Amino acid sequence: MILTLKTPVMNNSIKTINPFNNKTIKEYEVHTSEQLSHFLENSKKAFDKWRETSIKERCRLLDSLAQILEDDKDQLAELITLEMGKPLAQSISEIEKCITLCDFYATNAEDFLADELIDTDANESFISYDPLGTILAVMPWNYPFWQVLRFAVPTLTAGNTAILKHASNVTGCALAIEKLFERAGYPQGCFTSIIANHDAIEKLIANDIIKAVSLTGSEKAGKSIAATAGKHLKKTVLELGGNNACIVLDDADLDKHMDTIVNARMQNAGQSCIAAKRFIVTETIYDEFLKRFKDKVALLKFGDPMDKQVTIGTLARVDLGDILKKQIDGSIALGANVISGNKQDKAYFEPTILTDITKDMPVFKEETFGPVAPIMKVKNTEEAFRMAAETRFGLGTMVFTQSIEIAQHYINTIEDGAYFVNELVKSDARLPFGGTKASGYGRELSREGIHEFVNRKTVFINH
Ligand code: NAP
Repeated sequence: MILTLKTPVMNNSIKTINPFNNKTIKEYEVHTSEQLSHFLENSKKAFDKWRETSIKERCRLLDSLAQILEDDKDQLAELITLEMGKPLAQSISEIEKCITLCDFYATNAEDFLADELIDTDANESFISYDPLGTILAVMPWNYPFWQVLRFAVPTLTAGNTAILKHASNVTGCALAIEKLFERAGYPQGCFTSIIANHDAIEKLIANDIIKAVSLTGSEKAGKSIAATAGKHLKKTVLELGGNNACIVLDDADLDKHMDTIVNARMQNAGQSCIAAKRFIVTETIYDEFLKRFKDKVALLKFGDPMDKQVTIGTLARVDLGDILKKQIDGSIALGANVISGNKQDKAYFEPTILTDITKDMPVFKEETFGPVAPIMKVKNTEEAFRMAAETRFGLGTMVFTQSIEIAQHYINTIEDGAYFVNELVKSDARLPFGGTKASGYGRELSREGIHEFVNRKTVFINH
């Protein structure tokens, strides 16, 4: 199959395209190497002052950032929807989640960054959490505000400065985020969005001013960026793809949880790293589950994502639909049965349900980044957990059951970064977020997240 191009990056310019109507939104010039050097120098200068700014003042700026997000919520949500096709109601929720993130760190950062006394034979010994300098962030388009802010809010509050290279198809969002920080009162150079191609990123990582890199993106990008960073001995946090299992056991309360289960796969048209990507259902409840899943999926409403009634949008780019089609066709060739959907019209991909799933199929082995739900029937609980573990990825596992003791029994067997019982795997500013294995390493959010890009300095004082 010939795959269509990703966001066109031609003659040093980038075009953003509305995936719903395929119309060009805007064309941007890629920054020159001189401009990038200037941004780096600026960021370094800003860091020298910013690191001396009190944590109280940094937290006050978070309040101001939250207020601007609140004031501009509708306009920012429209920009998300325009650039990547998410239904407007979901874009509004994304901005609201960013506000809770600012509130969380405004309330807790001072505690998280306070010196941590440790009793030793010294008169005084403690850990001091110092900023590192300028951190480079390479971010994806699927939650164009949330992904950036969940990196930037703790990282800046810890006293670092940041340079963002956002996904090309959401360049408008990248520039809007830079403006948000400026308007909130952050000193010039604290947060900079750059427009750059992949080669330029390699050079930036090599530059002494960049102290560490945070990437949220594909496994392929993770390997490439981590290799470059490794060559220059720079720390990375990698939030990569996932292939989360959603286990449904015989005694699952479907009346209570069916909306959550469908949402776990279909929100954001399936383009979430932590979406439920493999449904593993025990045989006693299988028929009832399949019927209910199909009925709920049939209620999803496709249309112009700017319409607040619309519940499923297009994919963010046409090429993402082409990849999904290939994975589904490959699975059908190995015996998967199409229960509904499987029609593609440019960036729109009909929500698709597949059954008769085996573990050699692409929809089971690989990450599917779109609205396709492979549903596998298994004999019992033990087989369900065994199948769930059959993946190279390690973001999360969810299980739906009324037997909490059984769910608890399996906690220690889960090798993922998260295990959710009777809830979809989701991020929450109060809880650490991150993966294991091919899903990456490092943690974002919570106390863990703000400690990723700091020097945990040991101080030992004898009088
Ligand atoms: P992608 O191709 O890896 O792109 C993500 C970002 O990395 C973009 O800014 C992209 O820039 C950049 N990039 C890609 N290759 C690069 C390279 N060699 N050097 C420098 N920059 C590079 O990912 P995607 O397909 O757009 O996004 C979906 C993937 O992200 C899925 O696998 C998903 O699971 C993962 N994801 C993970 C999480 C998480 O928290 N674990 C969250 C969201 C998404 P361009 O746009 O310019 O190519």
